[in-house]
Amino acid sequence: MSLTVTLPSVIEPSPGADTCPVCGTLDFTSIYNDARDPITLDSFRVVECSSCGAVYTIPRPASLDRYYPRHYRAYGPLVTRILSAFYGLRVSRWARIKPEGASVLEVGCGPGLMLAAFRRRGWRVFGIERNEAAAETARQTLGPDTIATSLEGLPADARFDLIVLFQVLEHIGEPVALLRECARRLAPGGLLIANVPNFSSWQSRFAGSNWMHLDVPRHLVHYTPESMTYTLKCAGLTLSALGFTSFEHDPYGWVESTISRVTGRTNTLTRFLMGLDGFSPQVLFSWILGIALFPPALLLAALSWVAGSGALMEAIAVASGAAPKQV
Ligand SMILES: [Zn+2]
Repeated sequence: MSLTVTLPSVIEPSPGADTCPVCGTLDFTSIYNDARDPITLDSFRVVECSSCGAVYTIPRPASLDRYYPRHYRAYGPLVTRILSAFYGLRVSRWARIKPEGASVLEVGCGPGLMLAAFRRRGWRVFGIERNEAAAETARQTLGPDTIATSLEGLPADARFDLIVLFQVLEHIGEPVALLRECARRLAPGGLLIANVPNFSSWQSRFAGSNWMHLDVPRHLVHYTPESMTYTLKCAGLTLSALGFTSFEHDPYGWVESTISRVTGRTNTLTRFLMGLDGFSPQVLFSWILGIALFPPALLLAALSWVAGSGALMEAIAVASGAAPKQV
């Protein structure tokens, strides 16, 4: 990596205000003035901090309850099985980093699909999940003492060889505070993996405010490689590798973004898969178009991975001062 970042002083952001969630500055320029939530169609702005370059959503809703419908990410059994297979592949790659018996903490583990894959490979697994129903499902699979509802709910002296935040950090309004606590929880030589959408990706630039991975206001911060590096640094972490390969989310994002541009409706396929919309001629047309678009979408995604401009990015970080890991 050859990313250079300067490190201004970090002010703790005040939740609810329009201050930068990373550095606390209240000085920004607008990128999108009318980015629509694809679920409620409420309008938000996406702005860039003039001090540290972080891109974030304003206004930040005081409560996000309205923006997480019951069906959010509640896919049917077929989609769940497909995602599980992809997650299994991802975990098998991560699990090669550390020997059997190592410990992993997943922050935002949902019902525990990834943790179950780690455990099958001999890892000791722990999870944080704020949604009590999902946490209970994970406990039934993984054991009663494995899942807490907050980092503070873990034993104070617990340390982990690997901490995973898979599509979680973009939902967090105070990312530096969370990452700082994660850094404190890393065992010596431990690694942190954060997988987030890449705001500077080809796909994001192509789709603009209709980009499916923009997902305002659920996504509060929209990371680029530079702002991710800076955010990690603020929390006492150093980026050691950055990858872009994402079979499960990147080609699909090209398909959905292209359909949005053609039809003027955002996230038609995802809304149908989540059960928000029923079947209609528009949905049928979008599926036919989507199937035709899939081969070029896969090719574009693969090219963007090679070019370092994939729609999703995976940052691997170590505690600052620790020797960089070869992964
Ligand atoms: Zn900032």
